[in-house]
Amino acid sequence: MHIIFVGPPGAGKGTQSARLSRLLGLPHIAAGDLLRAVRAQDTPLGHTAKQYMDAGQLVPDDVTIQIIEQRLAQPDAKDGAILDGFPRTLTQAKALDESFARHNSSSHGNEIVLYLKASRGVVLERMKGRWICQQCGSVYHIPNVAPTEAGQCDVCGAPLFQRSDETPEIQAKRYEVYEHDTLPIVDYYRQHGTLMEINGEQDVENVTRDILAAIDARKAALIALEPRVSGGIEGLTSKPTWRGRGDQSRPIW
Ligand code: ADP
Ligand code: ADP
Ligand code: ZN
Repeated sequence: MHIIFVGPPGAGKGTQSARLSRLLGLPHIAAGDLLRAVRAQDTPLGHTAKQYMDAGQLVPDDVTIQIIEQRLAQPDAKDGAILDGFPRTLTQAKALDESFARHNSSSHGNEIVLYLKASRGVVLERMKGRWICQQCGSVYHIPNVAPTEAGQCDVCGAPLFQRSDETPEIQAKRYEVYEHDTLPIVDYYRQHGTLMEINGEQDVENVTRDILAAIDARKAALIALEPRVSGGIEGLTSKPTWRGRGDQSRPIW
């Protein structure tokens, strides 16, 4: 199953994706991390990414789509993945649909989009206090999710940093870009029936609890649509792959 996170910057998409990745055994694909790796390269593409990211703007769709498609084509993402920060535009959302239809025909139609909602005030506060470990990717917040030792990662002991695009001006710009470019995809997914809304303003544990319940509800809805005979039903263009026989059969997500 593909799990897609949509939400404002700082809503907790990365935090929840990392937790789900451990719980569900799916790879965590973070668009921002992939683009930061590109930006770090001294190449024309790296310079382009840097120019947009340092201004709080979205990296152009053609570049971002290509990078995500390459990552989704890796063997570990064959049966599903957690997409954190992609898509962020309607063009990206449509490209992802086409990519699922082309490469993941068995799981196409089974994705779930988690709309992690949090107000502008909450996400600006979360971004302001965000500290990250560049070595293992762990994310902290001072004071909400503080490390045991000040300035040091609990997981690997490396020093913690704040991102270079985490100034108040760039944070405000990123939120503005979210409202203008990303919010329209919420309606797009709502119309497709794949959207589940999650209250991202709760504490980390309760957000995870609601996400797991939403995933279960989506799986149950897909199973209810699926007749217990082969051949599918009219209007259902794709379905999970089935393992086993008779009553013991179960879908593989
Ligand atoms: P946040 O969740 O705080 O917005 P990310 O690490 O997800 O931060 O993204 C950092 C930056 O990377 C964005 O401001 C943007 O420049 C770029 N970026 C991330 N995802 C995308 C995307 N899907 N399309 C274009 N640019 C992106
Ligand atoms: P996103 O990936 O959506 O930009 P992050 O997962 O990086 O968001 O979270 C932004 C900041 O808020 C981080 O410092 C993180 O530790 C903190 N955070 C995430 N979820 C919560 C939560 N539910 N309550 C309080 N702080 C949170
Ligand atoms: Zn670490």
